[in-house]
Amino acid sequence: MSTNRNRIELYDATLRDGMGGGGLTLTAEEKLRVVHALDELGVDLIEAGFPSSNPKELELFALLERETLSHAQIAAFGMTRRRDAAAERDEGLRVLAECFAPVCTIVGKASVLHVEKVVRVSREQNLAMIADSVRFLAAQGKRVLLDAEHFFDGFALDPGYALDCLRAAAEAGAERVVLCDTNGGSLPSFIRTAFAVVSEALGGTPLGIHTHDDSGCAVANALTAVECGATQVQGTVNGVGERTGNANLITMIADLQLKMGFELLPAERLALLTETAHFVDELLNRAPNPAQPYVGKHAFAHKAGLHAAGVQADASTFEHVDPELVGNAREVIVSELSGKGTVIEKAAQAGVLPPAGELDESFAQRVVERVKELEHRGFQFEAADGSFELLMRKEAGSYEPLFRLESWRVLVEKRTDGKVVTEATIKGWVGGERFVRTAEGNGPVHALDAALRDAIGEIHPHLRDIELVNFKVRILDETKGTGAVTRVLIDASDGHDVWGSIGVSENVIAASWDALVDSLEYGMQPGRRPTPAPGTVGGR
Ligand SMILES: [Zn+2]
Repeated sequence: MSTNRNRIELYDATLRDGMGGGGLTLTAEEKLRVVHALDELGVDLIEAGFPSSNPKELELFALLERETLSHAQIAAFGMTRRRDAAAERDEGLRVLAECFAPVCTIVGKASVLHVEKVVRVSREQNLAMIADSVRFLAAQGKRVLLDAEHFFDGFALDPGYALDCLRAAAEAGAERVVLCDTNGGSLPSFIRTAFAVVSEALGGTPLGIHTHDDSGCAVANALTAVECGATQVQGTVNGVGERTGNANLITMIADLQLKMGFELLPAERLALLTETAHFVDELLNRAPNPAQPYVGKHAFAHKAGLHAAGVQADASTFEHVDPELVGNAREVIVSELSGKGTVIEKAAQAGVLPPAGELDESFAQRVVERVKELEHRGFQFEAADGSFELLMRKEAGSYEPLFRLESWRVLVEKRTDGKVVTEATIKGWVGGERFVRTAEGNGPVHALDAALRDAIGEIHPHLRDIELVNFKVRILDETKGTGAVTRVLIDASDGHDVWGSIGVSENVIAASWDALVDSLEYGMQPGRRPTPAPGTVGGR
């Protein structure tokens, strides 16, 4: 079923519908960066919002008007005319008409329930509101899309009326009608039933699909619609959106192209999928979902020794697609279960070579022994890829410490004014010089981090690019032979990569110190791949 790319239009709604998700916000400047990322990926239409709902939207449209995009077109979003005003006198529609955007998406009610209970107009009035609005914008030279809101719920209640709403738009000159599962409760079987009826009733009018994920079927519903003749899919990057989110456009692109045979994007653009998904999460200040299909950090992770060995022999044994097609990479997770094959692959990925004269096999065996020993003491390297690489380097003899420690000390003082102040002092050597540094912080890790950066930051200026982004503490009492120990996991980032490090000790501050040093040392390893700052990748 191979078809040309124009058969399925990719419509992104991240900047409008997607922003309904709790706590999500982007400045106009950041939205512009998203637009460029989506344009570079190869998305056809980008819904930017209503051109004047607030000063931020006005600023965005002013910025967009001056931009040149390589492929994508901007869609302005608005509503059908008010019930008591002619379309040409409706303020909202005039704003859309005057906006530079060549495409206007207007939302109209397609459910008799909403017409009667929410908008409170007659069925005929609603049809007239849809038709007049479409006709007015089409006459202004706009490509007009009707988002038929609550279409599927409306179709279940009164299929004849739901179809009348679509027909009103099509006959008034809409380029396309988009069937919306606004409440997100439909299942694929119902989407299929409804589409069969709509395709029959509307003849050749191009159809689109807009789904929400309330029943966990947003992507499945959109793909079903495509199977039934929809030629536009609407979604948001990473599925952001109100409640449970919109259909995930990232997943849909990969499914449509790699599973359903649509040639939507050239290979080099499809390979931008992972980067684009993470870029948008970063701007939204969301931690990327490691389990996200195709682009998650763990999407192609292999844990058990057998899996890892199988993947090495033939990747199709445990992978549904080649991760490189979507710009992701295979991740081999290190655990007690995994064997030498895993270590050899990890070492190759990190560019760690065994000491001269030692075979890969025996080097890997030593690393496996060391991991087992440490796991017995409470370490766990699955989320500590940074510490694991340092461990391999230490075994390989290619580890370079950032500094040499003499001692550290942490003082915690509770004052009568209620404040708790932490002070850390570190003594050691860097570049042949002894240092003694003291710093304050809001906790022991913060204070130690500050003192250490103060001591070695001059010699290692890139340290300032590394930020500690997550700090997790767990008390383990299950370890054998010792008392309870504390496991500390730190995630650090240089704005491009995120890595984990670990420390284990009976003392929480000692465990934190070990994890802190690992996180900084890993970030500073010579030979780690160059990491451009966010925003410089592809000029966005
Ligand atoms: Zn929606």
